[in-house]
Amino acid sequence: HAKACGKNVYKMFDRKMNEHATERVTLLSDLRLALERDEFVLHYQPKVDLLTGNVTSVEALVRWMHPRLGMLAPDKFIRLSEESGFIVELTDWVLRTACSQAKKWQEQNLGSVRVAVNLSPYHFQRQDVKEAILSVLEATGLEPALLEIEITESALMQNDEYTCALFRELRELGMTISVDDFGTGYSSLSYLHRFPINTLKIDRTFILNMMKSTEDQAIVTAIIAMAKSLNMQIVAEGVETVDQLEKLKDQGCHEIQGFLVSRPVAADAVTEFFTPENHLHQHTDPAQPEPP
Ligand code: C2E
Ligand code: MG
Ligand code: MG
Ligand code: MG
Repeated sequence: HAKACGKNVYKMFDRKMNEHATERVTLLSDLRLALERDEFVLHYQPKVDLLTGNVTSVEALVRWMHPRLGMLAPDKFIRLSEESGFIVELTDWVLRTACSQAKKWQEQNLGSVRVAVNLSPYHFQRQDVKEAILSVLEATGLEPALLEIEITESALMQNDEYTCALFRELRELGMTISVDDFGTGYSSLSYLHRFPINTLKIDRTFILNMMKSTEDQAIVTAIIAMAKSLNMQIVAEGVETVDQLEKLKDQGCHEIQGFLVSRPVAADAVTEFFTPENHLHQHTDPAQPEPP
């Protein structure tokens, strides 16, 4: 009896595996069509400077308007995109769309804010990442100073020689480099300072647990102190409550991002968060003298 039962369980498991595999294959062919059918959309989430209240940059977050399954969050399709190599095309689309959006805001005098794009480590496997980014900037007319690249801490720690060189070049061109989900990737201080990083984004799990766990609080404090000693900008992600905001302010955190300020929203909705400073901000050559 037990054997028969085990067989049934196995059969069921087998069927589930098949269903899973079929779902993947379907999703993958859907993914390829999704670009042609224009089913991807970017939402934007502001990062706000705690001292001035100004939006410093907006992060582009991809969503897939699936015809059958509705709006899919990135965790439903980024992994599959990475494993299948589709991530290269997807990232190109995200970069192009985000940069042209930032250029539009600028042209419509809605503001000069940086746009931040998440780069998958799989994307680096192509040898022409830098050229791909530069060609998007050229095609959209966006200045490099208005593009920010986010890479997760764990991705940064892989392949360090190459990544380090790449980011040094991107930074020399004027782009901003941010480390996403910081605190989860076990990087050491001595390691981190070798990378040409502008900004650390503290992972939202620490922000979430900070109010009830003294350990998490201590980690946040340490990350902020470390970032400051390395002259890095510090952003807390996933800020949802005023208590968290106050605590982070006390700790000297520079910027916050999270539902407290805004969820990721459509391009025309995020401009509501731009302040006059964003509108007036001109990226002029700092060497130029002030007009009399
Ligand atoms: P991430 O880059 O760390 O982005 C932050 C995620 O946290 C976003 O989820 C955002 O909606 C969510 N979030 C922001 N504030 C809060 C908050 O206050 N509370 C909570 N609970 N969540 C908050 P989303 O949009 O689902 O993106 C998930 C991840 O998918 C991103 O994490 C990023 O790693 C990846 N991703 C998104 N867009 C892209 C893309 O264009 N390319 C690549 N390679 N990855 C992307
Ligand atoms: Mg990010
Ligand atoms: Mg993040
Ligand atoms: Mg995160």
